[in-house]
Amino acid sequence: MARYTGPVCRVCRREGEKLFLKGDRCYSEKCAMEKRGQPPGQHGARRRRNLSEYGLQLREKQKVRRMYGVMERQFRRYYEEAARRQGVTGEILLQLLERRLDNVVFRMGFAASRAEARQMVNHGKFLVNDRPTDIPSFLVSEGDRIEVKPGSKGMPRLQELQEVAAGRSIPGWLSVDWEQKRGTVLRLPERDEVDVPIEEHLIVEMYSR
Ligand code: SF4
Repeated sequence: MARYTGPVCRVCRREGEKLFLKGDRCYSEKCAMEKRGQPPGQHGARRRRNLSEYGLQLREKQKVRRMYGVMERQFRRYYEEAARRQGVTGEILLQLLERRLDNVVFRMGFAASRAEARQMVNHGKFLVNDRPTDIPSFLVSEGDRIEVKPGSKGMPRLQELQEVAAGRSIPGWLSVDWEQKRGTVLRLPERDEVDVPIEEHLIVEMYSR
């Protein structure tokens, strides 16, 4: 599956918000948004934009798409799936994105960013319910067990991540056992457990034009 491979901090500067795409660096003073938060490009600092309604909707969609590292076509498929289901479309859309295996690995603290989680999943470092699963877009369900595969539990990187994770909280819909390098999906995520401000109604409005 294709993914964005360009400069990552530029994406945050474009959206004017920290999207936490780079792991540890995002929490340090090296964060590009801390140093120069203006939009990218030669005239980024001078350009003032009065966005149209469509412009606002588009920016919100791009922000969320980039946060989760999903390309346009796949993002639209998530939207279509959310629109088909009963309930509030925007909330279901976010829930589907949160349920991606790469996001869950990141949320559990087994990776410092979604990009790192995606790479680890791609490299076959995880089992889901004891079965090897290397598809980052795999959607987890309530009760699923995600575990670092036995041969990878001694990775030095995991040691570092465990130290970082000790200082951070994990969302209430997940539990993690660092001793066993294993986590469980206790329930599906709720809307207020997505920790970046997102106006999902703008995305729904854009797609339902
Ligand atoms: Fe965004 Fe992280 Fe780069 Fe800061 S360090 S600009 S939060 S990706």
